[in-house]
Amino acid sequence: MRWSYRIFRVFDIDVRVHATFFFIVAYFAYAWGTAREPGGIYGAFYGVVLVLLLFALVVMHELTHSLVARSFGVGVRDITLLPIGGMAVMDEMPTEPREELLVAVAGPMSNVVVGVVMAALAPLLIDASLFGDFGRLSDALLAPGFQGAYLYLLFVNLMLAVFNLLPAFPMDGGRVFRSLLAMRMGRAKATRVAVGVGQVLAVALGVLGVFGGGILMVVVAVFIFFGAQAEGKGDEMKGVLEDLRVAQAVNVGVETARPEQSIGELAARLFHTYQADFPVVSHDGSVLGVVTRDRLISLLGQHGPEFPVSEAMRVDVPTGGLTDSVYDVFQRMQSSGSRVMPIVEQGRFVGMVSLEDIGEVFALLSATGPEFAERVPREPR
Ligand SMILES: [Zn+2]
Repeated sequence: MRWSYRIFRVFDIDVRVHATFFFIVAYFAYAWGTAREPGGIYGAFYGVVLVLLLFALVVMHELTHSLVARSFGVGVRDITLLPIGGMAVMDEMPTEPREELLVAVAGPMSNVVVGVVMAALAPLLIDASLFGDFGRLSDALLAPGFQGAYLYLLFVNLMLAVFNLLPAFPMDGGRVFRSLLAMRMGRAKATRVAVGVGQVLAVALGVLGVFGGGILMVVVAVFIFFGAQAEGKGDEMKGVLEDLRVAQAVNVGVETARPEQSIGELAARLFHTYQADFPVVSHDGSVLGVVTRDRLISLLGQHGPEFPVSEAMRVDVPTGGLTDSVYDVFQRMQSSGSRVMPIVEQGRFVGMVSLEDIGEVFALLSATGPEFAERVPREPR
């Protein structure tokens, strides 16, 4: 993720922190430094320690997901901390229902275990009579010091477990629910049911938020609603496109550009083609980069038509092969923010796949059923 920095490495997994994370640290320092007794420098320092401990629990949660996933052979790239929580980036979640269930349930369970241990040790470490009196308990929770921090972290653990187990995507509970359904009805149908249930829950939460639950509840409801939708769409795309090879979807009649050409020459060709982006190919057939239409237009305005293609092209565009899965290619295009992917065979450019091409084959295969892919010929040349 952009704007994120590695802070440490544990079990061979990088733990990264996003730049915006600073705001939540500053917020805690401010809140404890101004609003509560004793406040001041001591209060601000206490706020910072508290937020770091809170995120230690988040790291533990994500790490537990990651280690269980790894035990099923799933590669874990990193864990990134954002102000709203943590995110473990994995190569791909297991699709076998029992494995998905275990990976999803592992995170919240780590909070349950730590929460239970903390509750069991509470009588030894803090004033246990607080648990019988809600008013005194909430006062003690917000008083800086060991007892306050202990109660605060106990409460946060409980919230992390309960909130993440809500049976709605993108929460862990959504995955738990889907995998339980998938054991009975197949994954595609299970995903549809789980997405539907999650959205009903989101709407109910949103209504509750509007009538008294507060703005935060409404925000969470919106987050769940669109998260559910994205999960459903992503899963559907995967089901339809996974078995389709690039050789079946690649566009071979592509106009290419040479690095020594000017952008004016490319612009003139745009008048005659549907193609929006030009792969830049060298004399030996290797791909050097891509010039997109938007970039072409903005550079024409800035530098005029004589500006060279070699300086206009974007060079960090990923390339794919004819035997790659179209779904893989789609995911790589999304993570690199590229609309097109040049396809290379033995180092030489052979064609291109664009997001529009993928959208088109997705629409076709959604209408015909994924079996139709078997009738689409491979190796276009
Ligand atoms: Zn989780």
